[in-house]
Amino acid sequence: MATVARNAAGVPRWGLPPWTIKFRAEERELPEAVDFAVVGGGFTGLAAAAWLRRVDARQSVAVFETSSIGAGSSGHTGGMTLAETASGDLPGLGDVLGGFSEILRELHVECDLNLPGALEIGRVGILADSPIEWADSGKLGVTREVPGGTIDPGKMVSGLAKAARQRGALIFESAGVENLQHGEPATLEVRGKQVRARCVLLATNAASLELSGLAKRAQAKFTMAVATEPIPEQQIRRLGLAAGKPFYTVDLPYLWGRVVYESRVIFGSGLVHLEDWRELLALDITVGQAAELLGQLEQRVHELHPVLQDVRLSHRWGGPILIADKWHPAFARHGANRNVIVLGAYSGHGVALSVYLGAWAAEAMLGKRELPQWDAEG
Ligand SMILES: Cc1cc2nc3c(=O)[nH]c(=O)nc-3n(C[C@H](O)[C@H](O)[C@H](O)COP(=O)(O)OP(=O)(O)OC[C@H]3O[C@@H](n4cnc5c(N)ncnc54)[C@H](O)[C@@H]3O)c2cc1C
Repeated sequence: MATVARNAAGVPRWGLPPWTIKFRAEERELPEAVDFAVVGGGFTGLAAAAWLRRVDARQSVAVFETSSIGAGSSGHTGGMTLAETASGDLPGLGDVLGGFSEILRELHVECDLNLPGALEIGRVGILADSPIEWADSGKLGVTREVPGGTIDPGKMVSGLAKAARQRGALIFESAGVENLQHGEPATLEVRGKQVRARCVLLATNAASLELSGLAKRAQAKFTMAVATEPIPEQQIRRLGLAAGKPFYTVDLPYLWGRVVYESRVIFGSGLVHLEDWRELLALDITVGQAAELLGQLEQRVHELHPVLQDVRLSHRWGGPILIADKWHPAFARHGANRNVIVLGAYSGHGVALSVYLGAWAAEAMLGKRELPQWDAEG
């Protein structure tokens, strides 16, 4: 996807987050047929692939990623692990954070998972003992604490890819699925070749919306974040962030963030609206609306608290999110083929949910679990 594209200065167009992805797929021949094909090498697709092989190691599994592992939202995320979905709890959803932690443990994915809680912040209803006292369109403070925490996104996406590979899933990078024929078996067109698959998971998130059938039901957007240079521990305490709890606003203007390595603080906000998901391919954070919104975010960061007044920003980046109707995740069988499942569109709330539902999708593909009834068919 767009992430490998660089601008004239040789910098990735979506910028660089402060973590790294340490995984490369080996070059190998494409198979002619597999039991399960997973399209998309983000958290969703990789968790599903690893879980498919964990539950039934007799089934062949291949992941096809158009760019490199983590090239979409998963490598560009903020890494806050949140409970429920963007539209709250849904029938039968269960315990997202508990299930997510368990799946990572089962797959031996080390990604600095820390669940100390998350802070909801806002301009009204601020708690008397709020550790946060910032200025941002009024006084901003903690209004409620909820379950949640953080992971290292680079380690999580690499760890899931390694878990899938170790368990025998084949991973192909630079292997975009150009076309999908809905027969029995389904046929995927990859690198000009045909690959047959008994079941397919489309975990392509904000891209390939025609392939996933989400073009009419979901909107691709682009959102941005910045990271500060390391801030001394005592200043992190003054900011009210010493407990390592991520934060997000419950009113507008929106702001989220967390502390990451060496006490850098990440802040995120802003949405670039797109007419068509393909605009992601050319989007460059150094120009146009993305650059403007990043400038506004930087200005807000400097004005939040005296500690941040002159802080230097070391990283600027952005990535896609896919917002579906009612902000419900898309998790259903494809309208054209019951053997194809579509999963994604977490509306910016997908770090824990992608892994949790990815494993659920794997069990559904193996016929061991029903899909939820949150939406009509994909
Ligand atoms: C800046 C930012 C901050 C965020 N912060 C948070 C947060 O703090 N907490 C939270 O819960 N969520 C957050 N999110 C959302 C979260 O990152 C996503 O919901 C999650 O990463 C989605 O994972 P995914 O695997 O479904 O999609 P992706 O990671 O986007 O993976 C989809 C993959 O499919 C590939 N692909 C697309 N089309 C094809 C094709 N035809 N063939 C093969 N491959 C294809 C893409 O290249 C991509 O790698 C954030 C998102 C952004 C952008």
